[in-house]
Amino acid sequence: MLLGGIKKDFPYPDKVCPYCNWLLVPVNAIHWQEDIYQYKALYLDKNPNCPAYDEGARQAYARMYYTSEDAFAYFKDVKMPVQRWTQEELYSIYQ
Ligand SMILES: [Zn+2]
Repeated sequence: MLLGGIKKDFPYPDKVCPYCNWLLVPVNAIHWQEDIYQYKALYLDKNPNCPAYDEGARQAYARMYYTSEDAFAYFKDVKMPVQRWTQEELYSIYQ
């Protein structure tokens, strides 16, 4: 069974944007209930001055992180809706 959403106080590893070196922010995750250390997490770069940030296209650097190959196989087709930080009603589906 799957548990959706960021877990409070969960030790998500630090990830850094390769373009601006800002620390990425985990914005959504899906954990496997039987082993919550198996998960995928979506990180976004919230630096508005990042060279990879494109305001017109509402694109920012995003990275999907999988804890293992098993997690990748299990979670790769599970979609996560993500609320963007600039448009309250705009959701993007990351896969
Ligand atoms: Zn960046």
